[in-house]
Amino acid sequence: MRLENGLVWSIPITLAVDKEMAASIEEGTEIALCQDDNMLAIMEVAEKFRFDKTREAQEVYRTTEDAHPGVAWLYEQGDILLGGPVWLLDWPEPREFPELRHTPAESRRMFVRNGWRRVVAFQTRNHIHRAHEYIQKSAMEITDGLFLHPLVGETKSDDIPADVRIESYQVILRDYYPAERVVLGVVPAAMRYAGPREAVFYAICRKNYGCSHFIVGRDHAGVGKYYGTYDAQLIFDEFEPEEIGIQPLLYEHACYCRKCGGPVSAKTCPHGKEDWIHLSGTQVREMLQKGEPLPEEFTRPEVSRVLIEGLRKYQDQSQDKESS
Ligand SMILES: [Zn+2]
Repeated sequence: MRLENGLVWSIPITLAVDKEMAASIEEGTEIALCQDDNMLAIMEVAEKFRFDKTREAQEVYRTTEDAHPGVAWLYEQGDILLGGPVWLLDWPEPREFPELRHTPAESRRMFVRNGWRRVVAFQTRNHIHRAHEYIQKSAMEITDGLFLHPLVGETKSDDIPADVRIESYQVILRDYYPAERVVLGVVPAAMRYAGPREAVFYAICRKNYGCSHFIVGRDHAGVGKYYGTYDAQLIFDEFEPEEIGIQPLLYEHACYCRKCGGPVSAKTCPHGKEDWIHLSGTQVREMLQKGEPLPEEFTRPEVSRVLIEGLRKYQDQSQDKESS
């Protein structure tokens, strides 16, 4: 969970290559790190070493099963890691949403310009239901601004396409959030589904983007049954607050309660599940694919509309591909 100097660092970021590639590189030489034809950085290969994938899987993902998408990805990597100092020459070309790709230096400047001292980050890989809106707005009550920071890197293939999600964020922000208290940005990071460790990792990333608070829900960054419901919240107790440097805000699942007449959680509503409007991810996908708007108490109609139209566009495209 830490670098050698003690800094909290919960997921190793490494450069793995296969044995043939490793054999062709001498320690002490310089190599170019490229994205397609663009040279992004020079690295001095100070070390080449083998690593224990099973141990990394167990420590980071708490499982060695390759049914876990993060573990499967890890097992596909080459067997040798290269390490050494890196000199950045150029940033990776933003492939999607360049106008929303703020660097940490840029987002910090934006927050200062807005006069924000306390900034809460919300990470998501999904569209925003009323429950998320409730959580974000309750955090906005105790901070100066919201940094809505969805992932647009690789996620599981059954998630809603990133451009449809971005449009749904823009629609809900335009109609239901004060423009001067929200910044929308995208994180070009691949989801690893490492649950608790990923929650810590993304909290540290948001600190670097200039945020003071980070929303951690239940089952944060989890997948399947690999993590306990509260694991991603409990892990923050293992550190002193100043070691992480960003305040986690721990939230329960929220939903709309018919009797309360508004969004609630188990912490704030005395009624039972029979009064709560809750749809599973599968139900949401099925309704959207059939073109049925989600209940208004669950999702803003503007958001439903964007999602239905977006999914229709993707279905048409894949049918066009099949028929051609
Ligand atoms: Zn209630």
